Amino acid sequence: MSGSIVALAELNGPVPVLPELRMVIGGGRPAAASGKEIPVEDPSDSTVFATVPAGDAHDIDNAVRAARDAFDRQIWSGMRPLERSRILENIARKLEDHADELALLESYDNGKTVHHAKAVDVPGAVDIFRYMAGWCTKLHGHTNPMSSPEQKYHSYTVREPVGVVGAITPWNYPIIMAAWKVATALAAGCTIVLKPSELTSLTALRMAELALEAGVPEGVFNVVTGYGAEAGQALVDHPMVDKIAFTGSTRVGKSIVQSASRDLKRVSLELGGKSPSLVFADADMEKVGIGAAMAIFFNSGQICQVASRLYIEHSVFDEVVEAVSKAAQSFTIGHGRNPDVMIGPLVSNTQMERVLGYIDSGTQQGGEVVTGGKRVGDRGYFVEPTVFVNSDPDSKVVREEIFGPVLVAMPFKDVEDVVRQANDTRYGLAANIWTRDISRAHLTASRLQAGTVWINTHGVVDVSTPFGGFKESGWGREMSAESLHAYTETKTITALLS
Ligand code: NAP
Ligand code: MG
Repeated sequence: MSGSIVALAELNGPVPVLPELRMVIGGGRPAAASGKEIPVEDPSDSTVFATVPAGDAHDIDNAVRAARDAFDRQIWSGMRPLERSRILENIARKLEDHADELALLESYDNGKTVHHAKAVDVPGAVDIFRYMAGWCTKLHGHTNPMSSPEQKYHSYTVREPVGVVGAITPWNYPIIMAAWKVATALAAGCTIVLKPSELTSLTALRMAELALEAGVPEGVFNVVTGYGAEAGQALVDHPMVDKIAFTGSTRVGKSIVQSASRDLKRVSLELGGKSPSLVFADADMEKVGIGAAMAIFFNSGQICQVASRLYIEHSVFDEVVEAVSKAAQSFTIGHGRNPDVMIGPLVSNTQMERVLGYIDSGTQQGGEVVTGGKRVGDRGYFVEPTVFVNSDPDSKVVREEIFGPVLVAMPFKDVEDVVRQANDTRYGLAANIWTRDISRAHLTASRLQAGTVWINTHGVVDVSTPFGGFKESGWGREMSAESLHAYTETKTITALLS
């Protein structure tokens, strides 16, 4: 029943216009070769409202061949840079024109509130296409000042597209995670096969439709929906793919590195995190409570850079825990289409069970729940914002990425103590520091092992700011000029001048 819609009329709120629920491969819109499908569920009320194709190795092979052919014929990389730039700008404009529709799709698919999707997700996708449109005309090389004593040479570098990119994305910010990769790959002149999370494929399909309408030639941007272990793994293993751009868990990231070692595909990885908030006693207490709470509970904690460990200077520990807990209790939880709601559900039953399991383990391992701790309601996958104190530094809630609305608060003595505790993790994605002392803020920032450090704020990302992780949080950076390195190869050309 590819493309079917089940009982949409019974659902609450406005009904989304669904994209054609078939894959995008070359000029075609096929169902899965196997005929199999994946149910699409609305996490706000556990209703299955559509199905998408369950693509597998066969469909991946078709899509990769389409992308390879488009790349080898240079229909995209050979286009005038100004023309590619115009098409990327067209995509940005089309996404903008369809913002309401895309936000609603994201809400149905992922559960997040429509206003969150409209304020964060869709603009984030628009911005990266617009930003990358500017880079099509600016991928310069250098001239190389060679020192050879006898001969004269002319040597220069050019940056060439890496080739066919396999992009694999998670479910927490479906359209942004896809856009960061697709826009950058297109700016560099690559062709793409995108495999979105099996839980949230709808906006990826719609983005590909809009990209085709915007002027991207057939075969340049393909989407195969399907399960990670089948379609995802087949993409990683395909010998005609030159590079894998992955966002997801550290576990799957490591397995991708192993698979890619067979042919040394290029790999960039945006992985998990267990980021710290550091609150010093001199911080602006009015801002800290809500700031540290938003840093973990936004998007129900399903963000890679959430600050899930809260380190508080001893003298203000109780005060800050109380302020954060109060903020947590003030957030309204509920259905993604309810405009009064601030926090939607977790993405799936599996994710909810996982988070509740962590909360159980947190109490079993000696932690104390100050607020939250429970599921909300019995339809949809809602979990209360939860704050732990007195957790053992070696307990699972302190050490492992939960990817849900769970915060552990711990005291510290001084800068040395908090830097040691904050860095005591295998992850290194982000951190934040709350203090009025500007020297201490920057000195502490320089000692944190994290790809991004925010001072008196959290979670602010921009197309101009490189984003990615130290340590097991990944390889490479997304957004900014730096991200283009992951999608280009540098070629040195040296000529003897006789
Ligand atoms: P995940 O389980 O690692 O899945 C990510 C993607 O990989 C999905 O499309 C998944 O497909 C696919 N996949 C699974 N197994 C695969 C395999 N063997 N080969 C190739 N692809 C495979 O992660 P998730 O649960 O979707 O997302 C949550 C994780 O993403 C968290 O750890 C979070 O920190 C991380 N994340 C990081 C960032 C960042 O920028 N650093 C941003 C967002 C999320 P299926 O969905 O079909 O399994
Ligand atoms: Mg869904």
